[in-house]
Amino acid sequence: MRRISFLLALFSLTTFAQAQTMQPTPNAHWKLQWTQPVEEIKSTAYMFLHEKSGAPLLYLANEDDNKVFCIAFRTPPTDSTGIAHIMEHSVLCGSERFPSKEPFVDLLKSSLQTFLNAFTADDRTMYPVASRNDKDFTNLMTVYLDAVFFPNVKKIPEILMQEGWHYVVNEAGNLEYNGIVYSEMKGVYSSPQSVLYRTIQKSMYPDSTYANDSGGNPDNIPDLTQKQFAEFHDKYYHPSNSLIYLYGDGNIDAHLTFLHDEFLSKFERSQETGDRRQETAVIPQPVFTEPKDITAEYSVDEGESTDAKTFLSMNYLLPTDLDNAVRSYGLDMLPYILVNGEAGQLRRALLDAELGLDVEASFDSSILQPCFSIIIHNSDPDKKEKFLEVLETTLKKLVAEGIDRRIIEGAINRTEFMLREFQISGFPKGLAVNMQILETWAYGGDPLGHLRFEPILKSLREGMEKNFFENLIEEYLLNNPSRGFVMLQPKQGLEKEKSDQLAAKLAEVKKSLSPEQLEEIKRQKEALLERQATPDNPEDVAKIPQLELSDVDRAAEDIPFNKIPSTMPIVQVDVDTNKIAYITVLFDLTPWQENPAVLSYFSNVLGRLDTENYSYTDLSNEIDLHTGGISTGLSVSSIYKESEKFNLHLLARVKTTLPKLDKGLKLVHEILTKTKFDNTARLKEILQEYRVGLEQSLMSSGHSFARTRSASYFSRKEKYRDEISGIDHYRFLVNLEKNFDSEGEKFAQTLEAYSKTLFSASNGQILVTLPKEDFESIRPTLKDFESKFLAAPPAGRSEGVSQTTSLTQANEAVIIPSRVQYVVKSANFRDLGFEHTGRLLVLTNILRTGYLWNNIRVQGGAYGGGFSADMNGVFSLWSYRDPHLKRTVDIYKGVADYLENLELSEEDLTKALIATIGSLDKPLTPSEKGGRVMGMLLSGLTQSDLQRERDEVLATTVEDLRKLAPMFRKGMAQNNICVFGNETKIEEDKELFKTTIRPIE
Ligand SMILES: [Zn+2]
Repeated sequence: MRRISFLLALFSLTTFAQAQTMQPTPNAHWKLQWTQPVEEIKSTAYMFLHEKSGAPLLYLANEDDNKVFCIAFRTPPTDSTGIAHIMEHSVLCGSERFPSKEPFVDLLKSSLQTFLNAFTADDRTMYPVASRNDKDFTNLMTVYLDAVFFPNVKKIPEILMQEGWHYVVNEAGNLEYNGIVYSEMKGVYSSPQSVLYRTIQKSMYPDSTYANDSGGNPDNIPDLTQKQFAEFHDKYYHPSNSLIYLYGDGNIDAHLTFLHDEFLSKFERSQETGDRRQETAVIPQPVFTEPKDITAEYSVDEGESTDAKTFLSMNYLLPTDLDNAVRSYGLDMLPYILVNGEAGQLRRALLDAELGLDVEASFDSSILQPCFSIIIHNSDPDKKEKFLEVLETTLKKLVAEGIDRRIIEGAINRTEFMLREFQISGFPKGLAVNMQILETWAYGGDPLGHLRFEPILKSLREGMEKNFFENLIEEYLLNNPSRGFVMLQPKQGLEKEKSDQLAAKLAEVKKSLSPEQLEEIKRQKEALLERQATPDNPEDVAKIPQLELSDVDRAAEDIPFNKIPSTMPIVQVDVDTNKIAYITVLFDLTPWQENPAVLSYFSNVLGRLDTENYSYTDLSNEIDLHTGGISTGLSVSSIYKESEKFNLHLLARVKTTLPKLDKGLKLVHEILTKTKFDNTARLKEILQEYRVGLEQSLMSSGHSFARTRSASYFSRKEKYRDEISGIDHYRFLVNLEKNFDSEGEKFAQTLEAYSKTLFSASNGQILVTLPKEDFESIRPTLKDFESKFLAAPPAGRSEGVSQTTSLTQANEAVIIPSRVQYVVKSANFRDLGFEHTGRLLVLTNILRTGYLWNNIRVQGGAYGGGFSADMNGVFSLWSYRDPHLKRTVDIYKGVADYLENLELSEEDLTKALIATIGSLDKPLTPSEKGGRVMGMLLSGLTQSDLQRERDEVLATTVEDLRKLAPMFRKGMAQNNICVFGNETKIEEDKELFKTTIRPIE
């Protein structure tokens, strides 16, 4: 039930020239099964079979220097103990050749990697790495392959205890569970949407592997035994059950030889081990004999209302059709066409029937047998019948009368834009391609089937005229017997009920134990703690292959740009964009900062209301037909080396192909200056969706809200951020919604006034990411756009700067319906006499992969923890999905002592410097390059500042890091704490807080 939009954008025509890549020479161990060009991604595909072990390998040769390697295994689960997920974590905890406790972390500490992680999907597990440095790339492959094939997890039971689950005897002498995946999944199960998705999956696939949670249900994780764990590895982690993938400009022959010599030659595809493919095939769910009707519950806190908190969903199980890529793409677009796009006709019908505050549709093409879902958020149980009726009649009507052609055309254009553009922030392109390939390859389908999008788009355009999309609705939704209605209702205190049950169960367990057995549990925990606390043998760590400082580029990447005087000053970022124009129009609102919450809401509704020339649904169609998207929002930017000042801008972004830029900019102008605010019903509708969305992020990203909030006690900038996007903003939305019927009209007038006065040439500027020659060709279009704005703000627009906001140290505990905590403490290092230097970046790597990793994650059982510092001086320590509260605060106190006594060998320091440079050098997409230039200009950073920062990184000594100890000693003593978390846990540690709030009513 992942969002499909992400996977759709996973491949592109090109950002690099036609490949003249190396051809493989015949290799005795690898049989070349076929080779084919793949025009759409300018690659040549080679499919090999390693004959001795039975491992298949797909090699995509091209000119991309960001090389990707991934080994995946088919791991369909047979229960919900999370065995596949815990294995994914555990194989990276030491192997035969690399016996240190966490080679994965050793790599994070030392590599130039551009990607290093592992994923567990519903029926497969992936281990991807990426690097632009050849030597580094081979190092990463070596460590990962040894990890998956020869892990220590079968020999060392403490690994399952640490990564999965183990018993703890707490201070009161009672048993508890702890473990990293256990906490991670408790966090996942705290989110109502996650519970909904899992309930749908369980209901729709009762007889299939997909009924099980491959991530692990916290209720079932403790059923997992070491024996099952070891058997799971034996069964699934064999080359004949793997799918190996290589991508980029590497040396094919060298890679093939390396894989054979170092790893695959050690395996046999024998009678005895067998070919695992048969055993791991996914058995499809049989067609339902009658529709399902399922109701389940999720927990809300005792005092919380249950009104308008029910989810209603209708789900359709689709037959497998691996070879039909056109069907797959069509179904991928259907959620947008029907519901997720603003103009969706089913969306309108469902919202107009007042069934709930938001609606969504989803289709997951990444599993063998996909499911199509339509979900109503914030509804009530008594709306079920109405929902089913509106759904049925609307779908029938769409089939009978046809879907609005412009909506379909817009959806196809939108998809095409994503395919050609290819941009996924933080994700190497080669990995994105691999995920697309696995959608078919994992089940024995054509690995390239979904990559060849040119003929697919053509078929869809032709099909549109022949009712292709209407037929999809008829066949797979209306006439589909395998359907299920799933309702998820809130229940007060369910969480408490469940934790009482768990406590009772654990009390029973304890009663059943003999004194010797209880001693044994304590002994095991001590053995675990001892292993965790014992530093690795330096010889073991030294086995991890290492780069040297000479492998690192000393010069910071310089992104070329030009400043061009014009009515609105222009910054042209001179990078290749594959004929796509990325334009950001910025309006400086620094003098008009008053009413931050209203400004934020204003920036959010732009583009979603009627304008003088378009209804909002027509506007949405126009945007899809002519652009790759238009977005608006506020940006608060720090000013380099200034503690209190910040800049405020409203940004409007548009991306288009060059011939459509004129149209794109006309739409931007229309949205900014011709929006009509008189439709208060529509304003309220957007407000409700917006509030619901923010509420969902409060639960999933508590650490980021808590970080802003804890810094808002002492920083005006962070206070402002909290007001435009944090907890404070959430409370503003809740209040506005309550009083909207009486105050809506006045509110609409304020928004109207903003649109008439905030945008003029005198406070505007334009950022254009486009190479010089293309830029010249669009210059007249830009001039025309600039001339449409007022020269200066109209008279009467007074400057209303900085009503001096008073800051208070509220030290809040924020109760949310969650089973885990997000614990944050912040301070300002500039106020404590420290400056922003490259040393802080080195420290970020050292704390994240060292002290915090060991104490918060490894020993504390939280999913994560970290340190961050910004240019204004705000720094924070934070934890993510943390079972603890006070313990974590104590860990933060210990940072100063840790740093004061920091001992790092020369090698360890060098590793940290290399890894820090690696984090600065992550490859950027063209639009990200534009974004970086914009960020530098807004905050006053120059290229020489970046170079100095890089020099500071490379010159950092252990003594420099020790000198940062007082920053933490003094900063943590100021005690700016904010914690999001579970009510019971907060109650236990309430002496830490001055205030307790419960934002969700
Ligand atoms: Zn995990």
